[in-house]
Parts: sequence; C-alpha cells; structure tokens
Amino acid sequence: MNPAGVDTIKKGLIIAIDGPSGAGKSTIARLLAARLGYLYLDTGAMFRTIALMAKRGGLSLDDDDGLAALCRSVEILFVRADDDSCRIFAGGEDISELIRTPEISLLTSRISAKKVVRDILLQLQRDIGSVGRVILEGRDIGTVVFPDADVKFFLSARPEERGRRRFLELNAKGEKAGLEETIAEVLLRDAQDEQREHAPLRQAPDAIVIDSTFLSIEEILVEMEAVIRVNPSV
Ligand code: C5P
Repeated sequence: MNPAGVDTIKKGLIIAIDGPSGAGKSTIARLLAARLGYLYLDTGAMFRTIALMAKRGGLSLDDDDGLAALCRSVEILFVRADDDSCRIFAGGEDISELIRTPEISLLTSRISAKKVVRDILLQLQRDIGSVGRVILEGRDIGTVVFPDADVKFFLSARPEERGRRRFLELNAKGEKAGLEETIAEVLLRDAQDEQREHAPLRQAPDAIVIDSTFLSIEEILVEMEAVIRVNPSV
C-alpha cells in the first residue's frame, strides 16, 4: 500500500529532489530523468499553475472553496518539447512562460502555503508518483509527499548564487529584472516556504545533501547517478 492508500505495482525507484529556489533542481531533475528513462514531475509547476489561474479568476487567498474548486478542475498537462524541455499546458493553453514571472513566483509561494491547495495537489502527486520510475522535484517531496522515497536529495546553493542563476534565467527570457531585486525575491520566497505551517521547505533527515554552488551540472548528475545506480531496482 502506498501513502496514497492505493494498491499499485511499483516499478523502479521513487526519487525525491527537494531544495530552495534556484538551486538547480529543475535542470538536474529533467536531465537525470532523461538519463534514467524516468518520468520527471515538476511539482512547483503544479503550484504555479494554480497561482496563475487564481490570479486570472480574481480568487482571494482566503477563498478556500474557490481554491479547492480550482485545484480540482484545472487540467495540467506536461509535454516534452523537441529540445527535451518540458512545456506546461492548462486547459489547452501553453502557460510555460506565464507561470515563471517574478509576480507569479511570489504568488505561488503564498498560495502553496494554503492547506486546501496542498492537500489536493499532494494526492495528485502521490497518484502520479506511486507507480515508480519517477523523479519528483519540489520542497516537501522527501518529507511529506513520499517520506519513504527510495532516494532523497536535498539540492542547495549559496543564496547569492541562487539569486544570480534566477537573474540570468529571467534575463535570458527577456524579463527586465535586476540582480539585487531577484536575490531579494528568491530570499523572500525561501523564507515564506520555510516558515509556513503546512509542509514547509525542510531537509529530510535521510536526504543526501548536495551543495551545487561550485559544481557543474555534469558533476551533480554524476554524483546523483552514483548513489542511484547502487540500488538494484533502478
Ligand atoms: O520549484 P518552483 O520554484 O517552481 O516552485 C515555486 C513555488 O511553489 C515555491 O516557491 C513553493 O512556494 C511552491 N512549492 C511548494 N511545494 C512543492 C513545490 C513548489 O510549496 N513541492
């Protein structure tokens, strides 16, 4: 029986990658999943989609019933693009860029603190992940979503470096964001994510911690794969 209370035949591993914003989790999770032939679930994109739709619908953060209805009705689709990147669709619309603006990032952090939102997305994440051969990336995967995950990583980096990466990412997309402002946004989001009551950003006691500040993407991937490949069920 998995944590969702559903009997499923699990194949392969459930791999959790948690950590603060800008630590490189998405890039690493996507590439690692491609190498292992695993599914990659970007749980942050699920919360971001809810935030975007709530904003469009003019929903108040206090409207628990409205938020619950939104979480239950929105159809989120992850589509792999030709360049191996992952596009996010909701109701047939490609919202990949729209969910990654600084404004939506901050709103997501506030909306993801809502228990009603977390409870519904938690169930979805467990339903998707419990079949195995999956890498889930987020803030509470190893602590709450899959506390029994086969392998848990906590990927971190120094705050200035995380802010710098986010700054480069935003500017590459043509978003006008300043470096100091971006570092401040990342720190605010981390503080909100760490201090919330429900499923805060926290390192699982049995997680393998990797500080990515001075590591290349390839070095991180090699380190993670070495840990994962030891498991005979991979
Ligand atoms: O990972 P990403 O930066 O896209 O996540 C956006 C926001 O979604 C985070 O700042 C956090 O507030 C929320 N989140 C969460 N739990 C997760 C994944 C993301 O609360 N598992």
